[in-house]
Amino acid sequence: QAKSDGRGTYRIFQNEMNVRLQERLQLEVDLRQALQRSEFELFYQPIVNIESKQIVTFEALLRWHHPQKGTIPPTTFIPLAEETGLIVPIGDWVLQQACRDAASWPQDVRVAVNLSSVQFRRGALELSVTRALAAAGLHGSRLELEITESILLHDEEITRDILNRLRVLGVHIAIDDFGTGYSALSYLRSFPLDKIKIDRSFVQDLSRETSAAAIVRAISELGQALDMTIVAEGVETAEQLRILGDQRCTQAQGYFIAYPQPAAQLIRVIEELKAVA
Ligand code: C2E
Ligand code: MG
Ligand code: MG
Ligand code: MG
Repeated sequence: QAKSDGRGTYRIFQNEMNVRLQERLQLEVDLRQALQRSEFELFYQPIVNIESKQIVTFEALLRWHHPQKGTIPPTTFIPLAEETGLIVPIGDWVLQQACRDAASWPQDVRVAVNLSSVQFRRGALELSVTRALAAAGLHGSRLELEITESILLHDEEITRDILNRLRVLGVHIAIDDFGTGYSALSYLRSFPLDKIKIDRSFVQDLSRETSAAAIVRAISELGQALDMTIVAEGVETAEQLRILGDQRCTQAQGYFIAYPQPAAQLIRVIEELKAVA
């Protein structure tokens, strides 16, 4: 009795595994065709200077419009794209599209592009960036690249080399999701970095926890000492924005300021934010 129950459970488990495996394989097949079928779109979310309220950057956030499943968020398909290596051609498309879009924006607004560690290891990143800038006629100083702490911890020499060469082009380098990784402060000195983006988990705790505010203050002071810009991500309330300003954080991004939106909406976003500034 117990034995057959066990087998039954196993069979159900196996069916579930098969279904999930098949779904994943299907998604992979779809992902391989997504580029040529033009199913990707870049949304943009503004990052503002807290004091002047001016838009300083638009961050490009990738969306996949799947023909059956609707719009799939990057947290679902980026890991798959990384495992399969598809992130390299997809990442190249993102760089090219982002630079093209940015070429039509006001000169003092930059575009930020998220990079995967796989693009450092498997792609010819420097060439991709140079080509994207040239094709769009965009100066390197209008591009920011967002990387995560984990990129700095692996392939340290190669990464430093690539970042240094990108910086010669005028490109700015930002550390994304700061505080969630194995934050070793030493890398802030040993890599050419321009910007720290404080992870939204700290921002969320700002009103309830005084330690979160102390951490933001400490990172802001660190940024000032190291000549780096400090951005808070995930700002959802007026109170969070006020506390961030009090703690001398320089820039902010989040739903309270604006949601990520298609490129065609950005003129309106610029006008709306100008009106409240
Ligand atoms: P990220 O770079 O940290 O981007 C910020 C994420 O937080 C975005 O999610 C954004 O929509 C969301 N967000 C913005 N403001 C708020 C807020 O006030 N509250 C909350 N709860 N969330 C907010 P999204 O667009 O789903 O992207 C998720 C992640 O996917 C990104 O995190 C980034 O790591 C990755 N990603 C997005 N686009 C690309 C891409 O083109 N290439 C690569 N390699 N990764 C990308
Ligand atoms: Mg980012
Ligand atoms: Mg982030
Ligand atoms: Mg994040």
